[in-house]
Amino acid sequence: IKRIGVFTSGGDAPGMNACIRSVVRTALYNNTQVSGILQGYQGMIDNQFIEMNSRSVSNIIQLGGTILKTARCSEFRTVEGRKKAYDNIKAAGIDALVGIGGDGTFTGIEVFSREYDIPVIGIPGTIDNDLYGSDFTLGFDTACNTVIEAIDKIRDTAASHDRLFFVEVMGRDSGCIALNTGIAGGAEAILMPEKETAIDDLIERLEGAVAGKKTSTIVIIAEGDQNGGAYNIAKHVKTKFDFYDTKVTILGHLQRGGSPSSFDRVLASRLGFSAVNLLLAGETRRVVGLKGNEIQHVPIEESINNKAFKLAPDMIELSHILAI
Ligand code: ATP
Repeated sequence: IKRIGVFTSGGDAPGMNACIRSVVRTALYNNTQVSGILQGYQGMIDNQFIEMNSRSVSNIIQLGGTILKTARCSEFRTVEGRKKAYDNIKAAGIDALVGIGGDGTFTGIEVFSREYDIPVIGIPGTIDNDLYGSDFTLGFDTACNTVIEAIDKIRDTAASHDRLFFVEVMGRDSGCIALNTGIAGGAEAILMPEKETAIDDLIERLEGAVAGKKTSTIVIIAEGDQNGGAYNIAKHVKTKFDFYDTKVTILGHLQRGGSPSSFDRVLASRLGFSAVNLLLAGETRRVVGLKGNEIQHVPIEESINNKAFKLAPDMIELSHILAI
């Protein structure tokens, strides 16, 4: 392998830059050139490649987002689009790819590497932590820290006014952010897509909080919860439970940005390093990840075809116990 192409794709996540830096420097250290591909798969189709050297990744380890930009690209889903991408990649002298993103991104390189003989490695980068093959994805820890900061602030108001706050966090099909931040932020209840909670059960929990003389109550809701989002839940709860003044906060995209945490920077650096080492060792079609404190790699198909379930049962039980 003479030249590795690195790109970010799908939603941005804190730690992507730290990961790009690690890919670039590990490759250069091993006398392998690196091209940065801008805008994910779109950049392959539009011929947007930039030469990367050690200095092009200076001063980025602390930056959120991605210096290579990211995009969703429908053309890459077509045979013609991928042919264009391959011709451009070949012409640029790129003979291996490292893609940082979510399962859509992994599906893209999986299809691509079956059609064309080019080694590929995927690195899990998404704040949702919903990928199989790594205990943690890049950006998850940072996003949780951002949410906690917000919950702490909301708690000040909730406690001062005897209010009930419904806080909606990201997680279309994963309750990881909700469960972690619910425990870290002392939420009275946590609603997650993986675990159905009936509104009546939630109300019972809230009545328990009142009976226990709590002066503020915070309910964390993952956006993918079956009850249909924070506003909807607040409306339903209000019809039967009006002890507190009720407020809704949707944290939205502020969870995606920001300077990566120490954990995410280290994870990003380790995964970037491993991805390049795998390619140089002749591996392909793997997703690198963290298992315990070890770096592991699994086949891309395995990562795409398995649903990650990362809600530790002890954490679910704990979230109930600590809310009394
Ligand atoms: P996030 O978790 O933030 O959504 P993601 O990587 O899952 O990240 P997607 O938009 O689903 O984000 O996928 C990123 C890109 O991967 C798509 O825009 C598309 O270009 C490519 N892609 C996804 N699925 C396929 C597929 N079946 N075939 C070819 N390319 C695909």
